[in-house]
Amino acid sequence: MKRESIRWNPSHNKRPKSNTCFSPRTGKPLSVYPSHSAAKQGADYANSAYDSNLVPYQCKKCRKWHLSPQDRHTPSSLCPKCIGANGRRKSLYKTKSDAASRADILAKEQQVDLTVYQCPHNRGWHLTKAQ
Ligand SMILES: [Zn+2]
Ligand SMILES: [Zn+2]
Repeated sequence: MKRESIRWNPSHNKRPKSNTCFSPRTGKPLSVYPSHSAAKQGADYANSAYDSNLVPYQCKKCRKWHLSPQDRHTPSSLCPKCIGANGRRKSLYKTKSDAASRADILAKEQQVDLTVYQCPHNRGWHLTKAQ
């Protein structure tokens, strides 16, 4: 039996492409990684080789890992006053547009419909499921 290395080689030219998931921007198949550490290596390689700013995320659709530009990570902190439906403190976004871009991302990735509202206790914005 031929033994194959299970180590992911991020410098390999033929990175595996997803046949289920496509970039919403370009329509091209996304690179797919079997694990977070593999995706992290892929991101590190791309970031140093192409001066990009990619971060791994786990896909809700295929359960594997893809890379996405950092700008999808909207800055947020945890609100000390507001508790979400899951019993955890809610993310507090500094600006309404940060909250809105996060809602856009979640709508695309998780098919959830969220609305932005101003926190009644703090300076910032929260997301809540649309009724
Ligand atoms: Zn996927
Ligand atoms: Zn709050």
